[in-house]
Amino acid sequence: MALTRDAWWLAMMALAVLSTFGLRGLSRRRSRQRMVSERSLAAILDDVGACVYIKDLDLRYRYVNRKVVEWFERPAESILGLRDQDLFDAATAEHLRSTDERVLRQGQRITVEEQNRQQAGRPPRTFLSVKQPLRDPEGRIHALCGISTDITDVKLSEQKLQHLAGHDALTGLPNRALLLDRIHQAFHHLARSRSDGALLFIDLDHFKLINDTLGHAKGDLLLQQVAARLGRCLRQDDTLARLGGDEFVLLAENLGRDFADVTVGVKVIAEKLRHELCAEPMELDGGQYSVRASIGIALMSYVSRGASGAPADELLKRADMAMYEAKAAGRNQVKCFDPSMQEALHRRAELEFLIQEGLRLGQFQLAYQPVVDEEGCVVGAEALARWPHPEKGMIAPGEFIAAAEASGQIVALGTWILCTACAQLAAWGRSADTRELSLSVNLSARQVHASDFVAQVAEALRHSGADPRRLELELTESVFAHDFESVSEKMRSLQRIGVRFSLDDFGTGYSSLSYLKRLAFHQIKIDQSFVRDLLHDENDAAIVRAVLTLGESLGLEVVAEGVETAEQFEALRRLGGRRFQGYFFGRPGRAEAVQASAVAVP
Ligand code: C2E
Ligand code: MG
Ligand code: MG
Repeated sequence: MALTRDAWWLAMMALAVLSTFGLRGLSRRRSRQRMVSERSLAAILDDVGACVYIKDLDLRYRYVNRKVVEWFERPAESILGLRDQDLFDAATAEHLRSTDERVLRQGQRITVEEQNRQQAGRPPRTFLSVKQPLRDPEGRIHALCGISTDITDVKLSEQKLQHLAGHDALTGLPNRALLLDRIHQAFHHLARSRSDGALLFIDLDHFKLINDTLGHAKGDLLLQQVAARLGRCLRQDDTLARLGGDEFVLLAENLGRDFADVTVGVKVIAEKLRHELCAEPMELDGGQYSVRASIGIALMSYVSRGASGAPADELLKRADMAMYEAKAAGRNQVKCFDPSMQEALHRRAELEFLIQEGLRLGQFQLAYQPVVDEEGCVVGAEALARWPHPEKGMIAPGEFIAAAEASGQIVALGTWILCTACAQLAAWGRSADTRELSLSVNLSARQVHASDFVAQVAEALRHSGADPRRLELELTESVFAHDFESVSEKMRSLQRIGVRFSLDDFGTGYSSLSYLKRLAFHQIKIDQSFVRDLLHDENDAAIVRAVLTLGESLGLEVVAEGVETAEQFEALRRLGGRRFQGYFFGRPGRAEAVQASAVAVP
């Protein structure tokens, strides 16, 4: 290490010369020339940056270089003749003695790392020592020479490097690598103690927003405060780590053997963490910032230690999944992992792949469900996406639309739906029988929020040649959850070219009335859940009646969805309904079937 190979050989050669001619033959063969070479050899050894020494068979020092003198802070004369027990504390001396004796006994050079503590009670220093027996011309061992390099500083920086490799620079907490290692150990411990442990995945809510508004420097300060606060909740066996960004993980061990105790215990910890973070706002440069967190929990004993062989990764993945559930459930809460989450996730991932394939292979279709007037005459239709999968059979729109929304694929799928529907509308426009039909197309929030939404609709209309006044776009309230103004502006733009809007699933949201007043809707669709029980449930009947009245007073067309029987149709007509849709008039089907669906009204 500190002593290079060359320096070591130089020192070794010098020592050998010194010991052969100098120490033994000093009195007998002294000559001027030899004196000079001895002095220059000693000078060389004094320049070596390591302790160089020779001990006799009694292990008394016979030669020491300047480094040894400096180390003991006493002159060479007072060291020569002493043994290690006179210079070091007892444990060190004993250790040195046994190593030295081994060298003399075995007659071989050895390299050892030694922790040497002087008697003065100073902290020990670490040496890398090379020790070698010295032989006379007849080959008999008569002394031992050693070179000991102080590597304490090297060791310290090594430790520092090791710490850096396992810790996060910003907070000083263990990082992912070290955490995984600790989890690994925790699994070993669990196998022995049977006392369960858990992983808590903590993710700050809307940290990106805080970071973006405060600037990254303050964001960093905030993360340090978060680390400090979470640190206050630690028990002795806990490991708190930062994975990066605003993701923290707590590994809690020894929570007990009983399932009930463990679940209660871990939830108490989670709530404590949340409380520690949220109870008081964080102080940053005079400003106060409140922090919230979503926490996901996974229990160690539930991770099977099967063939995959990576229970630590699995545990982390589960806690992460549970954290996402907590976010999905509205943030600022605690969720425990349960296996259904994994199933749902698997299914989503599979669906995502299948949708990709489906789009590429043209597996999607549109079905058309007639909309009729009070006479039962077809006035239009709603386009509904269908996916007859060649292997999986029919996949329900409720399932694939949600998956496509979650993955963002709805934009591509929605474009296809819009273009296909417009092409159908244009085809109807070319025939006298169907010229008057309008067509409703369902839109997802993400489609509407896309910046080129207006252009897309306009392009679908232009390309197909469909009449914009026959196109109705169905939106649900979720579209208005954010960017209200921008959505409202887009609606007005499209309205100017004749496109109409319909508010779907009316009654299932919460603030429909305010939307209705502020946005340019032409139609509302009463959700089928109210129609279903219309005849038996007074409340539903009252709601349907109220919606019909509301439509009338606001000048909106009202469509009753989900009409399945003649009785429902009759009751709705009596309440003043003018537009109807449901299995009673026709199921979603081929476009050609729409026109034939008219129901003869008694
Ligand atoms: P929605 O827009 O409210 O569509 C009406 C749903 O009610 C359709 O289900 C339709 O088949 C069903 N329905 C019609 N008449 C009756 C009836 O008499 N009884 C009963 N029980 N149900 C009836 P579907 O096709 O399964 O679609 C479900 C939802 O999926 C739709 O609700 C819509 O939100 C979404 N969806 C369907 N196609 C598309 C699409 O092309 N794009 C988008 N973004 N969403 C779509
Ligand atoms: Mg609809
Ligand atoms: Mg609906």
